[in-house]
Amino acid sequence: MQNGRHLIWDSHLDLAWNAIDWNRDLRLPVAEIRKQEREQGAEGKGRCVNTVSFADLRRGNVAIFIATLLARQLRSGPGLVAVNRYASMEAAYAAGYGQLAYYRAMEQQGHVRWIKDWPSLSAHLDAWQSGGDTSREPLGFILSMEGADPILSPARVQEWYDAGLRIIGPAHYGPSPYARGHNMEGGLYEQGPALLREMERVGIILDVTHLSDQCFYESLDIYGGPVLASHHNCRALVPDPRQLTDDQIKRLIARGAVIGTALDAWMLYPGWVRGETTPEKAGVRLEAMVDHIDHICQLSGNARHAAIGTDLDGGFGREQSPMDLDTIADLQRLPELLLRRGYDEKAVEGIMFGNWVRFFREAWQKR
Ligand SMILES: [Zn+2]
Repeated sequence: MQNGRHLIWDSHLDLAWNAIDWNRDLRLPVAEIRKQEREQGAEGKGRCVNTVSFADLRRGNVAIFIATLLARQLRSGPGLVAVNRYASMEAAYAAGYGQLAYYRAMEQQGHVRWIKDWPSLSAHLDAWQSGGDTSREPLGFILSMEGADPILSPARVQEWYDAGLRIIGPAHYGPSPYARGHNMEGGLYEQGPALLREMERVGIILDVTHLSDQCFYESLDIYGGPVLASHHNCRALVPDPRQLTDDQIKRLIARGAVIGTALDAWMLYPGWVRGETTPEKAGVRLEAMVDHIDHICQLSGNARHAAIGTDLDGGFGREQSPMDLDTIADLQRLPELLLRRGYDEKAVEGIMFGNWVRFFREAWQKR
């Protein structure tokens, strides 16, 4: 706790993709970004209803997050939409570096602090937990890649590590060069095992989110390093291949993983039809996230493996978020909901923040 509010760690935000591909200035408050998009007549899903900006993260005491590079190659495959997709891996590589440059620029202006190892994470936590004024303290981020398309070959993993990348999720929707996404059947592609082995050698954490079921199991067999699931809910509650089965959750728990539960409404509510169902019609509230957290905790027998990985800027806005969430600052309502569900203060702190601290301390101190 800090000034009566919990510190929050969000394990999945696509900030640079929003800044560049959606052309949003994240230094502005959410209300101002919405107003600009309305004035510019921006149309389409997720427009004029965004929920994430630096100011609102700060208002919500979201002191640290995992932030992505999201640059995908255009390939044929089921469920693939031809926007924000590049015709070659080389273009995805360049776009990945473009997004990386956005984080660097934000860091140079003092909005964010790039966390790459345990000493820098530990110092960041000290700064936010000192009890002093944190209004000028940079927000922390760890850099991740969603879809390994910008990695030109397994031998280039080291290059990305040296550039500051610490986590890779090999797949996104559909096929990636190394792995199949959750909406596909089948295992790793030819270079997938080499990518995973090189990630382990270099010290990059594996994010299993978006992997097909077969890729999930193959990856856990090949990759021996630390594993997480950045934005993932439970298939037992909302059936869809995008979600984790109970067996997968148990495998992750056995590996010491932490699972960030997501706030994309269709992942919270069974039978949601994207573009049709609304949070109000379905009555989807933040409480639904607590159901998924609780399911993971029941399978674990403790509260050490569930956490928050909202994905709130992942191509949707309020129209596909819980109805009692206006911006990401409203994550501050979750602790109360967890306490009411019977979790004690220590468990709540772990879910909101501490489980990720433990995970990264263990992952990084071993090296
Ligand atoms: Zn995603």
